[in-house]
Amino acid sequence: MSDKIEVRNIPAKVEIHQPDTAKVGQYNPRSRIYVRAVQGVHQLLRRRMNMVFMAVFMILPWIQFNGRQAILLDLAERQFNIFGLTLWPQDLTLFTWLLIIAAFALFFVTTFYGRVWCGYMCPQTVWTLIFIWFEEKFEGTRNQRIKLDKMPMSWTKFRKKAAKHTAWWSFSFLTSLTFIAYFVPVEELFIGFFTGQSSALIYGWVIFFAVCTYGNAGWMREIMCTHICPYARFQSAMFDKETFTVSYDPKRGESRGPRPRKKDPKELGLGDCIDCNLCVQVCPTGIDIRNGLQYECINCGACIDACDGVMDKMGYEKGLISYTTEQQLEGKKTHIIRPKLLGYFIVLLVMLSAFAYTIVSRIPLDVDIIRDRNTLYRENFEGWIENTFTLKILNKSQQDHAYIISVEGLKGYKFQGRKSVIIKAGEVYTLPVTVSADPMLLKERITEIHFIVQDKNDPDVKVKEESNFFNRI
Ligand code: SF4
Ligand code: SF4
Repeated sequence: MSDKIEVRNIPAKVEIHQPDTAKVGQYNPRSRIYVRAVQGVHQLLRRRMNMVFMAVFMILPWIQFNGRQAILLDLAERQFNIFGLTLWPQDLTLFTWLLIIAAFALFFVTTFYGRVWCGYMCPQTVWTLIFIWFEEKFEGTRNQRIKLDKMPMSWTKFRKKAAKHTAWWSFSFLTSLTFIAYFVPVEELFIGFFTGQSSALIYGWVIFFAVCTYGNAGWMREIMCTHICPYARFQSAMFDKETFTVSYDPKRGESRGPRPRKKDPKELGLGDCIDCNLCVQVCPTGIDIRNGLQYECINCGACIDACDGVMDKMGYEKGLISYTTEQQLEGKKTHIIRPKLLGYFIVLLVMLSAFAYTIVSRIPLDVDIIRDRNTLYRENFEGWIENTFTLKILNKSQQDHAYIISVEGLKGYKFQGRKSVIIKAGEVYTLPVTVSADPMLLKERITEIHFIVQDKNDPDVKVKEESNFFNRI
């Protein structure tokens, strides 16, 4: 029997969220979810994590490292500077590996603790929470917001809406500018933007990302999570009966129903759920977790906090909704260490180690050898054989360096061209050289040779690049 949990797609009970005017199957911008604010340990953790995430995002572009912007993904110069490390298009495989590692990290976390990434760290969730916070500040609680939206336009309504949208737009522009500061030097960007000196392209991108942020976090919100993000669709492939997900305990909760606080529910034939609907009202995706595991659930724990508050007030034990596993709900033991989770962990560890080793042992120098394609060889006036090459030497570091050039694999060769060059940080130096050899010493028509480019001050920074030396036929 498969240990996968069957995922059922149960339509959310939307009647409590939708204004009466909403028509089924038809998009209505007013048929959105009015999320109720909730306090609790999970929401506190979420807010703290969101603050850290936001602080890191906003501050990083302003940090300097070795006199440069610490993180600058300079697309125009085709180089990514990350805390002293410069990555070039030649290092694209590193980015590919980074994405694969991120995917495996996500698989590992999801297998262990469900969609906690979505609930706690996904930028979509973080920005949505901030936008909801603005909404609450200007328009009030959930019930006040519903009432406000049903009201005809008035000066009060206009003022509240205008304040909210001004805050949303301001934050969207700040987000957009900060995001672009990862690609354009931060001071140049901010000064240029606010003094009207930035290019039309920069203004275009800032407006584009601001509109995306405003639309996403202000209007689309859960639509992104439930209808667009592909992650929600394939998460069931990672879930098993040992995965911790937010679940309602039906054995304890049913039969649900209201009751006087002082009455024993057992006497009334009721379970612990008082059917207050709070868990639904606080849910950012508008689902009822009591219907079982649903792909819309982002594992944020808001319903746990809401329900724990209710349980507290009723004098019942907390945990009617909790992070638990199918095994626990069936009264069985949860096995945290299991082959699938272990497999993800080992793969992740191996990939992370390989990635770290590649970064640490990476040589900030690249050499490309281009042979003269028109003349394979030439005979000079001494009767020696000459081959001409062009060396493209790329200094991938963030400092200027002096390099020494030599050739290996050719007996008694002569070298015409510069044997020592100083190359600026990030510069590609084109060096034409001619290598000549005595034909009496050449045994083959083609001799394999190596060009060696070595840092004058750091012999460990050395690149050996293969080429061929052609003799006459
Ligand atoms: S059901 Fe609970 S955990 Fe899932 S998204 Fe809604 S509030 Fe968050
Ligand atoms: S918050 Fe708890 S008690 Fe209230 S409806 Fe939800 S599960 Fe039942």
